[in-house]
Amino acid sequence: MRPKILFSLFTPVSKLTGIGPRLTGLIEKLAGPNIIDLAWHLPVGLVKRHQVAALIPGLVDQNIVVVLRIDQHMPSRNRRTPYRIHCMVGNEPLTLVFFNGREEYLRRQLPEGGMRKISGKLEDYNGSYQITHPDHIVKPDETDSIPMFEPVYRLTAGLTNQTFIKAAKQFLPTLPDLPEWNDKTLLAREKWAGWKESLREAHAPKEDADFERDTPARARLAYDELLANQLALELVRRSMKRKPGRPLVGDGKIRQKILNALPFTLTNAQMKALKEIEADIEGPHRMLRLLQGDVGSGKTVVALLAMAQAVEAGAQATIMAPTEILARQHFNAIEPLASKAGLTCLLITGRLKGKKRDAVLEKLASGTVDLVIGTHALFQEDIAFHDLGLAIIDEQHRFGVHQRLALSAKGRKENGGVDVLVMTATPIPRTLALTAYGDMDVSIIDEKPPGRKPVDTRAIDLDRLDDVAQGLKRKLDAGERIYWVCPLVEESLVLDVAAAEERFRHLQQLYGDQVGLIHGRLKPEVKDETMQRFMTGEISILVATTVIEVGVDVPEATVMIIEHAERFGLAQLHQLRGRVGRGGLPGTCLLIYASPLGETQKARLGILRETEDGFRIAEEDLRLRGAGELLGTRQSGLPEFRLADLQAHSRLLAIARDDARLILEKDEKLTSPRGEALRTLLYLFERDSAIRYLTSG
Ligand code: ADP
Ligand code: MG
Repeated sequence: MRPKILFSLFTPVSKLTGIGPRLTGLIEKLAGPNIIDLAWHLPVGLVKRHQVAALIPGLVDQNIVVVLRIDQHMPSRNRRTPYRIHCMVGNEPLTLVFFNGREEYLRRQLPEGGMRKISGKLEDYNGSYQITHPDHIVKPDETDSIPMFEPVYRLTAGLTNQTFIKAAKQFLPTLPDLPEWNDKTLLAREKWAGWKESLREAHAPKEDADFERDTPARARLAYDELLANQLALELVRRSMKRKPGRPLVGDGKIRQKILNALPFTLTNAQMKALKEIEADIEGPHRMLRLLQGDVGSGKTVVALLAMAQAVEAGAQATIMAPTEILARQHFNAIEPLASKAGLTCLLITGRLKGKKRDAVLEKLASGTVDLVIGTHALFQEDIAFHDLGLAIIDEQHRFGVHQRLALSAKGRKENGGVDVLVMTATPIPRTLALTAYGDMDVSIIDEKPPGRKPVDTRAIDLDRLDDVAQGLKRKLDAGERIYWVCPLVEESLVLDVAAAEERFRHLQQLYGDQVGLIHGRLKPEVKDETMQRFMTGEISILVATTVIEVGVDVPEATVMIIEHAERFGLAQLHQLRGRVGRGGLPGTCLLIYASPLGETQKARLGILRETEDGFRIAEEDLRLRGAGELLGTRQSGLPEFRLADLQAHSRLLAIARDDARLILEKDEKLTSPRGEALRTLLYLFERDSAIRYLTSG
């Protein structure tokens, strides 16, 4: 239960005076539903005003405070023209402009013949002075009632800065006195004030320097957020570790058979990762480990060997992929090797139905099958394993902490928890890995199998698209296969699909029925079928929106064309490029861009041409774009930060990480006075679900 002391902060914004239903809706969308969300909505700028007595050209674009005489109202004649009010500042005319102005209200505020003091940004409109929507209007004798500087908040259409300023004036004075959760020596060293003082200060900037990320006030608030995040993850981690796992010690015989059946030897990086995983599986605690490896680094075989170990020890193992296609691909890669080693292997997806499904579930429950490969369908309630020992989740970052836990709950209670291995092909910058996967141990495959040739990567102007399309002929004649990726059009699936369909028709004119199309609006069966035809070579050009599955392996694919590459994230481009040049033939990646490119866009495409090191690319992407955008925070299950900036605050993140570990080592149940304060912190940042792990074992 949320502590009482936080109740006022978790009150709906509509409780503030001046915030009615319309504003409530807008604020909810922009910041969030409660007062606390307004509190976290920190200013992003500052208005500095100049008090002036007369208008001169040098003041244009400045925020001024000026006394004027109101001459004449010119109500708007129709919806398109604004409401104008002619005024005089001394002998100089000045027009006040209001869009959607209400006459009655404006006449009351600015009566003809009256004097008023107003503030706003002075504009030059075709040689005359005007001010659009003055932000303050007061009687001239109300001295000092227009502040000389004010914070500027991020807005959306329909919200004015004054709404936020007025709201802040209401909630800032009544902020609760929260107990201090930070260590005193840290506060002293960083020169941080308390939570309340810091929040007030962050809302009251006085100079531009107050917006730097490392002012004491902002740094303190960011640290609080990072500490809440790290503490929550550490709680999950400790609760997992506390649960007895089950030592799955195998004799290595099945693993050896698999190794013998492989047409290659493992790379050093694969071997190292495998050792770490094997030690966890053998160990008495539950494994919760992240295996990171760039596309093509060879995670699948590592996964198979880990599963073999579980089977050697008498348990079952499962691997779960995010899509049907990927699950099938895993099955096709794993099944031949597994059967050579005497393992039985099953595929379970959402398409499995009826009697067939019953039969499969029966085998699963009776234990006559060793390995299960599947999709989300594995989460279904009636799916019961005979004795699940190891669960592997592939290509995730679409799953959050809680889903990882849900899968691990599929094991037999009396046998302790299921070991969980999460695999991702998205290289995650260290800072991000800490905040998203801080509950897991990490293994990294940072080396690719030998013999891979670099992909020839080029940036090409959209002007030359026709040349590119014509040029594909040579590749097709050589029996090679081509991906042509069309981008998301402003997040609209409809336009998005239209663009892909247009490109499809264009290429069809050139290459007839060698061209296939795949996009998000097609039924999964149709997508799969087209993908299948591309795999078998029935079609040679696959036009796709970004739905082409990360991880799908078509060794004959050698060319990756990405239209409007400037609209993609670097990590995404890197993933797409990783789809080609896998089968021994050299790969080509053409990044088609619309000029002119901005500086950042240029830099991004440049990095891609420079390196194929996914980790470097991910770090650069984070630097250039910010964490949220990088992985598409919303779908990804990654935490969103309101105050912390992972790039700017990486030093603080490291401190928070150590702090969280130390705290729980000393005060496992958070019962000391500082522990109690830290519980409040978790609630404050809505990491409540972590508190569960304090009580449940
Ligand atoms: P990813 O990490 O992207 O899942 P995969 O496991 O699909 O990579 O491996 C990519 C390809 O590399 C597969 O065809 C696989 O058989 C091959 N491979 C894996 N490990 C090695 C290795 N040590 N030497 C040579 N080829 C390998
Ligand atoms: Mg893979």
